[in-house]
Amino acid sequence: MNNMEQSFTTIQEARQWASLFLKEHQREPGVADWLLEHHLNMSYTQLMAYGRDPFPHEKKDSFVADIYKHTETGIPVQHLIGEAEFYGRRFDVNADVLVPRPETEELVEGVLRFIEKNGLTSEYLKVVDLGTGSGAIACTLSLELEHMDVYATDISSQALGTATHNAHQLGAKVNFYQGDFLAPVAGEAIDIIVSNPPYISHAELKELSDTVVQFDPHLALFADAEGLAAYHTIVSQIKSYHLTPMLIACEIGHLQGESVKEIIETGLPGYHAEVRSDINGKPRMVFAYSKTSVKSPDY
Ligand code: SAM
Ligand code: GLN
Repeated sequence: MNNMEQSFTTIQEARQWASLFLKEHQREPGVADWLLEHHLNMSYTQLMAYGRDPFPHEKKDSFVADIYKHTETGIPVQHLIGEAEFYGRRFDVNADVLVPRPETEELVEGVLRFIEKNGLTSEYLKVVDLGTGSGAIACTLSLELEHMDVYATDISSQALGTATHNAHQLGAKVNFYQGDFLAPVAGEAIDIIVSNPPYISHAELKELSDTVVQFDPHLALFADAEGLAAYHTIVSQIKSYHLTPMLIACEIGHLQGESVKEIIETGLPGYHAEVRSDINGKPRMVFAYSKTSVKSPDY
């Protein structure tokens, strides 16, 4: 795949060439549009409207090179363009952070809905995002509900560098700390804990696509104890730091619902945990409510 002599001359022809090429190599054809938007600095609507315009000659080599690179290696398009969209905002991403996923937007949505349904939108709440990565969850919560006091932790100082940059770019007020999940905020009376921790078991490595295994940091993906280690740690920290959050909201692997529910309800008898499905009907979240402080989760 080193033939850079592509015959397209218009934007539309470039789009046709790229999507067909990607499809023929078992890659997502939609990647063509993302890369066109990025290289031509156009929106999707502009791409459609100006399809018959000539493809700028000086941009051809770099566009074609990115299509080849993605096809050959599976490098996520977000790494090629250096950013990912999450909850309608752009976050810088790189090899140090997990590319934020659409299912995690549903976790954030669930937390926001909980706050709204319980009439807490104007309360002064302390929220912590454990394993913040790019800062996607923490920054979104802080920007959606400005009065909240948002904390975020990660074990990776490199990830925190990217998260801090993203918070700054987006104008989000988040307090970042390095450390093991809740440890850096042990002394804070946290109201809401939200986390998308690593949850893939080491045995599942062979089932993951190259796009994930080769490019997302393994620290973000894999956890011991069949992928459940992070939930065990978080629950035992809640207990030993005597924290009494009203809500604990976690993303989970689709087969982990009952296990995570049990880890929470056994470790924290004052909580009722419930497994929730994403828009594709897959169980991907656990929401646990404090029996004493939440009268009606009502979601
Ligand atoms: N919250 C981001 C998101 O949803 O896109 C990133 C989630 S990623 C699946 C998990 C994150 O947890 C990674 O950034 C990883 O560095 C971090 N992590 C792993 N082990 C940790 C630990 N013991 N304490 C704190 N963070 C940890
Ligand atoms: N959802 C990610 C994936 O499927 C994994 C993220 C995680 O382990 N929290 O690759």
